[in-house]
Amino acid sequence: MISDVIVEDKERAFLFCNEAIVRGALESDVKVVAFYPGSPVSEILDTFFQISEKFGIKMEIATNEKVALEIVAGASMGGQRSLTAMKSVGLNVASDTFFSLGYTGINKGCVLVFADDPFCHSSQSEEDGRFFAENSYIPMLEPTDPVEAKAMVKKAFDLSEEYHTLILIRTTTRINHQSTIVPLEPLNRSDFKPQSFRSFNKKYSTVGVRARELKLEMLKRREKIRDEFENSEFNNVIEGTSKIGIITSGVSYNYVLEVKNKLKINPPILKLGTTYPLPEKLVQNFIKELKAVIIIEELSPYLERNVKTFAKDVNPELKIYGKQSDHFSEAFEYNVPIVYNALRDIFQIERGKDYNAILKNANQLKSILPTRIPVFCPGCPHRATFWAFQNAIGGKSSNIAFINDIGCYSMLLLNKEIYSKLHPDDLLLAMGATLGTGSGISLASEEKVISIIGDSTFFHAGLPGIVNICNNDENILVIILDNSVTAMTGQQPNPGTGYGPGNAPKNKIKIEEVLNGIGFNNIFINDCFDAKNAITSFKKAISQSGPTVIISRGPCALWNDRNKRKRGEKIQPYFVDQQICRKCHTCMRDFYCPAISMEDKETEYVDENGKEWRGFSSHISSELCDGCGVCSILCPYTNHEARSERDVIRILNKPREVRHDL
Ligand code: SF4
Ligand code: SF4
Repeated sequence: MISDVIVEDKERAFLFCNEAIVRGALESDVKVVAFYPGSPVSEILDTFFQISEKFGIKMEIATNEKVALEIVAGASMGGQRSLTAMKSVGLNVASDTFFSLGYTGINKGCVLVFADDPFCHSSQSEEDGRFFAENSYIPMLEPTDPVEAKAMVKKAFDLSEEYHTLILIRTTTRINHQSTIVPLEPLNRSDFKPQSFRSFNKKYSTVGVRARELKLEMLKRREKIRDEFENSEFNNVIEGTSKIGIITSGVSYNYVLEVKNKLKINPPILKLGTTYPLPEKLVQNFIKELKAVIIIEELSPYLERNVKTFAKDVNPELKIYGKQSDHFSEAFEYNVPIVYNALRDIFQIERGKDYNAILKNANQLKSILPTRIPVFCPGCPHRATFWAFQNAIGGKSSNIAFINDIGCYSMLLLNKEIYSKLHPDDLLLAMGATLGTGSGISLASEEKVISIIGDSTFFHAGLPGIVNICNNDENILVIILDNSVTAMTGQQPNPGTGYGPGNAPKNKIKIEEVLNGIGFNNIFINDCFDAKNAITSFKKAISQSGPTVIISRGPCALWNDRNKRKRGEKIQPYFVDQQICRKCHTCMRDFYCPAISMEDKETEYVDENGKEWRGFSSHISSELCDGCGVCSILCPYTNHEARSERDVIRILNKPREVRHDL
């Protein structure tokens, strides 16, 4: 809760880790923040979005992570403490600037929180971002829980100013989404005072000879920070009686503590919170008297390889258990059973829980459950767009290369049974990659290339690709799904939304004006809920040759509902007139809106021609329906243009309040 993040008269609060990170930044008197949303760190943005005005923090929702990092680096160079947060693949986007910042350093405290996503819960790849720290010579801290996350943010600001370097805080999804009671310290906010970039008299250039000087300075800085990390409060040794020790960090440390108690073992444990540069003396001291060490870390063997570089010199007989001994996997997340099984094996313990049997049982139970795939919400504009598009191509897509991108619309991949004819799984790489890969396919093959991209992704990473398509006169149709907001990560505004933090008005960038400016001649704009006209528009767009764009516009259902609630408006649901429904199930079969289901009682209807219709009618849940009206357009027995009592699907004269959890 926001009130817990900003509370001033309590000594502790129950905080979500992302909120604890915000609290740490507030207590550090942060002055400038910038973000592009991304799970699992979106709530850092969302929390600042609500409080930045109150605390005089300058905040921008940047067009992408690279711009966000440049904003906070520039702010730091200009004399203000600053922070950004991004997901691991966002750091890929920011990496060009990121590596240069390792060289130039910064001025006032500057912190970058980045989150890896083992198991790809909300990312396209399972990256280990710790190598970014090593490659860029930028120091990195890794918390194990919200308490430590807050403390590390505060320390990171101090270290950043002391050593004039950006500091990384690396989390993983399971760390970001933990909650616990966090001790609070005073907010100590000061008024925002503009500084003078000139007066600092610092140079941040990486040109030629200067870059070579900076590289040497960077190496010296690394060793100084390594010395500091040898005594860091974030590295703990828990004494033990066993000759087999454990080195761990991040969320794995929590699993180790739990398993240690379950197995009743007492190994010495080195928990590392400063994982770049590694405090080598501390690690060497820890391993020198051991017979064996177990290294427990998710993803790549980052610590394991580092320890191996000096283990032979320190303790030639030391046995090292980890990924390279096949006790742990480089793939996916760990959990208590994984760590339990590995430690039970290494410590040769016969007794204890049989997690394998438990998992086997769980998997058996899982296999009898129906698969529930994520689906578009009731009233989602993307469902309407794909329905119109599928109708426009008449289901024939064998001569189409359909290129997807990152956004809610990626769910089309999971809905392939529903939209099977679209081949939506042709290709999906990364933010904005639909355009460049579309260009490549259009050069290489004879299919009509259709690249699909959302509005937020268009601004984030689509602009270079769209310029390339126009500049090279490529025969590509680009469908821009404009739902006016960055929907997938929680409805954060983007450059096309028109407002920013604190709901302050912002210049609204119109996609069609951008495209006009670039030089596109074929631009179509659809109201995606006007589904029949959208079909005509798609047909026209598909028949064009050369660079063509169709903007399929309609607000995200959840965002629209939130706005309705703010304006005091209600949702106007639809209903199926059970008496005259012909039970053809076009609405369910072709559109798959979750608000439509089948009645459980058979009814019959005799139409004006004497034809009898018997069966189970469709039913619209007035609680779920969002009132988009598309089912009433595609129902063959509803004349949505005339709207009469003879229509099967009609507007229910009982508007409902927008639910408060939206
Ligand atoms: S509501 Fe319309 S489309 Fe749905 S089953 Fe009834 S007649 Fe068919
Ligand atoms: S109007 Fe029809 S398609 Fe739209 S949300 Fe309601 S039931 Fe679903």
